[in-house]
Amino acid sequence: MTAPAGRAPGRSLAGPHPLGGSDDVFVGRGADVLLELRDLVKRYRLPRERLLRAAPVVEALRGVSLSVQAGRSVGIVGESGSGKSTLARHAMALETPTGGSVRLLGRDLHALAPAELRAARRDFQMVFQDPYGSLDPRQRVGRIVAEPLIDASADETRQRVAASLDAVGLRASDAQKYPHEFSGGQRQRIAIARALITRPKLIVADEPVSALDVSVQAQVLNLLADLAEQFGVTYLLISHDLAVVDHVCAEVAVMYAGRIVEQGTPALLFRAAAHPYTRALLRAMPADAVGADAAAPASARVASASDVATTSTASACAFAPRCAYRQARCDIELPALRPLASGQRVACHFAESVSIDAARSSGE
Ligand code: ADP
Ligand code: MG
Repeated sequence: MTAPAGRAPGRSLAGPHPLGGSDDVFVGRGADVLLELRDLVKRYRLPRERLLRAAPVVEALRGVSLSVQAGRSVGIVGESGSGKSTLARHAMALETPTGGSVRLLGRDLHALAPAELRAARRDFQMVFQDPYGSLDPRQRVGRIVAEPLIDASADETRQRVAASLDAVGLRASDAQKYPHEFSGGQRQRIAIARALITRPKLIVADEPVSALDVSVQAQVLNLLADLAEQFGVTYLLISHDLAVVDHVCAEVAVMYAGRIVEQGTPALLFRAAAHPYTRALLRAMPADAVGADAAAPASARVASASDVATTSTASACAFAPRCAYRQARCDIELPALRPLASGQRVACHFAESVSIDAARSSGE
């Protein structure tokens, strides 16, 4: 049932569409901003440990600003606990931020009335990590894939489900089946078909291949890349793995403890990462990187980011306790995200030294 690797997905979603508009809406309009996060802050209050103590607070996002332009997919990488899923949920307006704003196509999502938000959801859809948990086992695939459609007729729904399944390399007849009849990779194709059915401009995918067998990961990533090309969809693609986002994204933002610490093209970060944390991530990558195991970056770990998030002070660099470049300044002055001559943006006081050392160690 799964298409063989490399099969070009069907094109039957292409062409004028009752809800989606024509295929080339975004072609040649690369400067259109789809998603704009500004100074996004999210604090979670945890249960009190003792009666007279203040409830501990986790700052999952500590001022994240990021924009995603049409046709330029953005990857978010960072270890577990760095705030990636929190960012994804905010980008999807599934949670309300403590501070800052989320704008999609120029509209402030948190200022929309519920009915407006429901209508706006057509433009942005989500794919989750777990293709087992995210598909209702009691519903047929056709129902699952049609779920985001609001007021489509039965006929139109059937057509669009078939087209969406075809686009991800499944068959129209698969609509009659149940999720348990499919493998993990096929289930993720079903989840992608569901996301695609409204012809969204943006798909937020949170670790979409992490739960899949290594052999299947590349197929699903190829599918995502093909769909971007065919349907002009742009991704905010979240992964703990730089190699995964490299496959699909024009830009990468590296997160650490609720902040973006480095941002640039994948090629630039692979060649000349200038944040000590990005370098640690790169060192933890296996040589044959696509499909790296979820546990692989653990070797680079000293303290988990979630420990850091609760313990570090607001004015210090959160990475300092793990950092070989740490100086007194790092404990008192938060490094701002600043442009570097080499092209990326980095939040490190000593990024220039990091770059020089990196170039040296790569044998130049
Ligand atoms: P990631 O996806 O990068 O692993 P998350 O966004 O899931 O990171 O989590 C970031 C931090 O926020 C972690 O310390 C996590 O424990 C905390 N966190 C996330 N969601 C909640 C929540 N609903 N309540 C309390 N803490 C949360
Ligand atoms: Mg997560």
